[in-house]
Amino acid sequence: MAAVCEVLKEKGNEVIGVGPTTPVYEAIEKMVEHNCGSLLVMEDDDITGIFTERDYLRKIALQGRTSHDTAVQEVMTSPVVVCESGTEIDEALAMMTDRRIRHLPVVEEGRLVGIVSIGDLVKYKTREQEFRIGYLEDYIGAR
Ligand code: AMP
Repeated sequence: MAAVCEVLKEKGNEVIGVGPTTPVYEAIEKMVEHNCGSLLVMEDDDITGIFTERDYLRKIALQGRTSHDTAVQEVMTSPVVVCESGTEIDEALAMMTDRRIRHLPVVEEGRLVGIVSIGDLVKYKTREQEFRIGYLEDYIGAR
């Protein structure tokens, strides 16, 4: 089974981040601009927290806060669960399902090297399985 670094090879190493005092409104604008469902909250090179679409729904929309007057650090989740780039895809998926999270930053010797979503991992796995089925069908002459 492949490791998370294989997914990053295809997806790239870009991580969209914001500072802790960024207003939630600006954070959402950034998520929309980059078409992503989470932002890492960074202070220099340190991961301080994570803010996802779900945090907006639970902690802004439902709690009567306004996104202009709330800083990301007030509604982010901390500490952040991360995985190593050598973590197997199935293990990363298990970490996500156990903790009910859909985003996992990836580190290598403590350094941030990317982020994967549950969608990225499922997509990679599905493609790998389709490839394997095709190969086996060719082998047994089924197509
Ligand atoms: P998600 O399903 O990824 O949108 O996240 C659901 C909740 O878990 C939100 O409150 C997120 O801030 C939090 N969360 C998401 N990913 C992580 C992570 N890697 N570490 C810690 N909390 C997270």
